[in-house]
Amino acid sequence: ATPMSITAGVGRAAEFGVLVKDADALQKASTLTTLVFDKTGTLTEGKPQVAEIHLFNHTEEEQALRWAASLEQGSHHPLAQAIADKAASMAKTEIINFRTLGGLGVSGNSGDTSLLLGNRALLEQQQIDCGIADALLSQQASQGFTPVLLAAAGKVVAVFSIRDSLREDSAEALQRLHQQGYKLVMLTGDNELTARAIAKLAGIDEVIAGVRPEGKAEAVKTLQARGEQVAMIGDGINDAPALAQADVGIAMGGGSDVAIETAAITLMRPSLHGVADALALSQGTLRNMK
Ligand code: ADP
Ligand code: MG
Repeated sequence: ATPMSITAGVGRAAEFGVLVKDADALQKASTLTTLVFDKTGTLTEGKPQVAEIHLFNHTEEEQALRWAASLEQGSHHPLAQAIADKAASMAKTEIINFRTLGGLGVSGNSGDTSLLLGNRALLEQQQIDCGIADALLSQQASQGFTPVLLAAAGKVVAVFSIRDSLREDSAEALQRLHQQGYKLVMLTGDNELTARAIAKLAGIDEVIAGVRPEGKAEAVKTLQARGEQVAMIGDGINDAPALAQADVGIAMGGGSDVAIETAAITLMRPSLHGVADALALSQGTLRNMK
């Protein structure tokens, strides 16, 4: 490709609301084989909401919600926002010894009650028996909800079922990308069952779930080792290493600054049609130059 036509391609992309920072990326984009999507905030709206609260061990809803919302005051995770919204009008209780456990959840103490809030792996790590909630957890997850468990004094006391809807045009945009011949992969820290339910709605080919934040770049590397040319599409701070590892990093414009700084391409509109536009353009640009 001549520098001239790449420059023209970058200009065309801007008209579609696709910001190309690194002109070289447009050329690399023309040889991609696999597109890897983060789930939360990329395929989905990234505005999770508490849809249902299930209680165990004679716990009152108000107590469970107060504990959960008080813990989540210390977290910036989208799931924390969902719980905070649900308890917006409620007085919070003081939490001591607060800790964030990356990819798992949060912990702390209210008075002399020890609290844990997060996924099943977090509770298991602390030797808390989740048997009482297991049937509910699979049932909720296979419907696409993310279940968040609350344990108090070593027992499961509540499960918050959190819904994060697919962006309204994600399935349509992914259908275009399929027609363009790409393999579509989802990469998420969320649990396998929830991830598969959302992937099915979106039209994703392969799901890589339960990935810890530090594992996302590693997963991209593994695909590259299989001979794939990989674009990573993400919005979060935890996606930045994977965006850097990918052959082409694409950030959602509404996402974290770190993701935008790391990616070579940024979508100014909150829609994955921008990916289909950018990739069609990268192929068109290069074709025109022959
Ligand atoms: P992702 O953003 O892809 O879901 P994360 O690594 O941020 O990945 O989180 C993985 C999982 O850890 C979440 O799906 C959730 O189950 C749990 N988790 C992480 N942080 C929190 C939190 N603050 N509150 C509740 N659960 C959390
Ligand atoms: Mg995300």
